[in-house]
Amino acid sequence: MLLHRSHWRRFALVCLLCTPLQAIAESPDSFPGGLAVSHGVDNMSCRYRLQGMKTEFTETNLREARYPSLPPGQYTLQLICDSPPLGQSPLAAYSFTVLAPWWQSWIARASGILGVVLLLLSASLWRQRRDSQEKERLERAVAERSTELAQANRELQEASLSDPLTGIRNRRFFQSTIAADASQAVRAYRGLANYSLDHRDLIFFLIDIDHFKFVNDEYGHDAGDRVLVQIAQRLNSVVRESDFLIRWGGEEFLVVFRSAQRGDGVLLASRILKAINGTEFDLGNERRLTRSCSVGWAAFPWLPRSCSNLSVDEVLRLADHGLYVAKQEGRNQAVGLLPNANAPAIGSHTGIDKYCRLEQLLEDDLIREVRTPGDSALAAAASQ
Ligand code: GH3
Ligand code: MG
Ligand code: MG
Repeated sequence: MLLHRSHWRRFALVCLLCTPLQAIAESPDSFPGGLAVSHGVDNMSCRYRLQGMKTEFTETNLREARYPSLPPGQYTLQLICDSPPLGQSPLAAYSFTVLAPWWQSWIARASGILGVVLLLLSASLWRQRRDSQEKERLERAVAERSTELAQANRELQEASLSDPLTGIRNRRFFQSTIAADASQAVRAYRGLANYSLDHRDLIFFLIDIDHFKFVNDEYGHDAGDRVLVQIAQRLNSVVRESDFLIRWGGEEFLVVFRSAQRGDGVLLASRILKAINGTEFDLGNERRLTRSCSVGWAAFPWLPRSCSNLSVDEVLRLADHGLYVAKQEGRNQAVGLLPNANAPAIGSHTGIDKYCRLEQLLEDDLIREVRTPGDSALAAAASQ
């Protein structure tokens, strides 16, 4: 409770009027929420009441009256004193207001509530911000981890599709991609009367290095590896970026010319032969040697615009057969296999189902062999 300073002055004035009474209002610090009234005259009896608090007068011989905890409000202290020498005093009245402490005022309460609301709001905002920052951090971490994982996955996938020695594609890559290429090649012929002018074929070239074992036996396995790496580089310079260069196994390579024309088979074969036997291989330590290769090739689709056709595997078997023929006939050459004049007419849809196997084609004499010789001078050098 607070006794306002101005009221304290008025209270003092009233007390002067009702002499000998003295009234003292303590400051809130020393007497919080209270009022003390005292007088300094002996043998004096008084009656007092505090209007707003009590209705009856209180008799007292004490020199003071105390209201230790007056609630905020309007009060009037009424006092009548009686002392033998002076007689009865008139009724003295002192009105005063006890103000509510500042923290009970509506402004303070509103400010308090507002403060609490602001505090809660800022706490909630802070928490939201912290949560969203944490969420962002986690999302960033997850995104980074996902990118790393995706990268690792790509690298793993890349590694699983590549040959570790030469860096070119491996057989697994071929098997995972060739079906799509094959069906595209078949589709490309549909509805075309004249296929020969279009580059729609896949041409498979199987390449086997001649007398490669000699390299290992004579110079060691490391030197053999060096030659294999150089062979891959040389073949890479022959193919376009869109073609496939695959290490088929050991010292065998497969080149797939895509969107090609089977009429270019001979030319492409001679480029491959020249790429291998055209220059010496570096074995390290000043050692050099030449090597030739044998090539067998065949085009897919075997019979363009035919409903029934040889599968990719069967065409690869034809290329392998061409390679076998090239080896048998002295190496350093390419042998391509193509349908001959006895093959079912282009566009025919009947009577060709039985020609779906290499053996049948050979038996029925439906194959034409196209030979491409390698450089003869180098062939002699590479024969050992
Ligand atoms: P040809 O093909 O002319 O009949 O004779 P070749 O001596 O090449 O015989 P073949 O193709 O059968 O032998 C292939 C050799 O290639 C045998 C093997 O030691 C070697 N080879 C296979 N893979 C690797 C390899 O990764 N590194 C090395 N250095 N040699 C390999
Ligand atoms: Mg071989
Ligand atoms: Mg070989």
